[in-house]
Amino acid sequence: MALLTDLVAGLAAGSVEVIDLTAPLSEGTPVIRLPPSHGQPWPFERQVISRYDSAGEAYWNNIRLSEHTGTHFDAPVHWPSGRHLDDVSAVPPGRVVAPAAVLDCSAAAAADHDFLLRREDVEAWQAEHGPLPERGWLLYRTGWDGRSGDAEQFLNGGHTPGVAPDCARWLAQETSLIGLGVETVGTDAGQAMAFTEQPWPCHWYFQGANKYGLTQLQNLKRLPPQGAVVITGPLPIVGGSGSPARVLALVERSQIKQGGE
Ligand code: MN
Repeated sequence: MALLTDLVAGLAAGSVEVIDLTAPLSEGTPVIRLPPSHGQPWPFERQVISRYDSAGEAYWNNIRLSEHTGTHFDAPVHWPSGRHLDDVSAVPPGRVVAPAAVLDCSAAAAADHDFLLRREDVEAWQAEHGPLPERGWLLYRTGWDGRSGDAEQFLNGGHTPGVAPDCARWLAQETSLIGLGVETVGTDAGQAMAFTEQPWPCHWYFQGANKYGLTQLQNLKRLPPQGAVVITGPLPIVGGSGSPARVLALVERSQIKQGGE
């Protein structure tokens, strides 16, 4: 058990830091907007059950939200391509504690809000930083977390960055990645419904390969390109297509980026 003893010692000494990649969850949390024919996820709502109302009364709330509200986890069964694969309660916990690669395309996404990550971008990153981690997450930084406090800016009229269909297919089918994490409201680009080659390619290919999605992440700017370990805990909703999730990263302090762009 020396490994875990070392980890606990590192956490206590601050040489390993826990970075929260989760967006705060509130009534102001942006939710995706789809054409009416697709239905709409509920925004976060709460109703007070009691709030110290009488002597000895506790404070607690009922909450209402969708499986895909705020920072959340997409399970394979979310998409038609994964309909016979795992629902969120069947996701093996050992699969979602995993190393992470962080690709920073924030400059490209600032210049072009419809920027699509291409295979050559990932290959250029690999030439600089080494291979994608085995059975790891690809965390795709676009700078979109800087907009998350304002729903209009965050959703940007449906113009948000994503991944090109051929790149999504390659990542999902030909690498050992377990999933894709993004800062935007969904794993796919805002315009991905209209892609002719493959609409919503991240959902189609990743979920179809029994792989996962993570959305509305924050603080990716503090993570190194390689070396972080991501821990995420979707609720085991039986039959569920996904779940709001707390997403944490363990990072060695010497690797944490200060400031960030
Ligand atoms: Mn989702």
